[in-house]
Amino acid sequence: MELERYIRAIPDFPRPGILFRDITPLLGEPGAFRAALDRLTDYARAAGPGAIVGIESRGFLFGAPIADRLGLPFVPIRKEGKLPAARLTVEYALEYGESRLDIHQDAVAPGTAAFIVDDVLATGGTALAAAKLVELLGANVAGMGFLIELEGLGGRLRLGAYRVETLLRFTEG
Ligand code: AMP
Repeated sequence: MELERYIRAIPDFPRPGILFRDITPLLGEPGAFRAALDRLTDYARAAGPGAIVGIESRGFLFGAPIADRLGLPFVPIRKEGKLPAARLTVEYALEYGESRLDIHQDAVAPGTAAFIVDDVLATGGTALAAAKLVELLGANVAGMGFLIELEGLGGRLRLGAYRVETLLRFTEG
């Protein structure tokens, strides 16, 4: 199945100059969504994780079903200030400005191998921050899986220390 057909490119969203990769057509086509989940689940399984970590918010759409399919705990990493219990925070640079991500301190036991999931790998800054949170808890990163890789933004290079799997690669944007 050609999953590329279900990714819509929207120019100048959310800002001029950004070519936004919209996954909602894929989410709206059950066969395509399932095929994407099947393949991401295979990547996750091969990494032998003890937990699946999803990055807010589109990482939840893929991470939670993968965790369910593999019978593993699902761990949400959220934007700052959303998690209610004791948490760890990392700050990371965005294209413009900075942002913060949180994880619950008891979300992953030390020594757990975690597989990190998000929809798009762009510069890799968000995934790197997620990896840092996992490692701050004493767990380790078994690998990372993304639906889409935007080649040329350097994400794979930036995540060089980790095993990175992506389903669809786009050269522009
Ligand atoms: P990154 O630069 O890898 O830290 O990407 C930041 C976040 O923004 C990722 O979680 C992606 O979901 C999202 N993102 C970045 N660039 C795009 C894009 N061109 N289209 C859709 N989502 C994007």
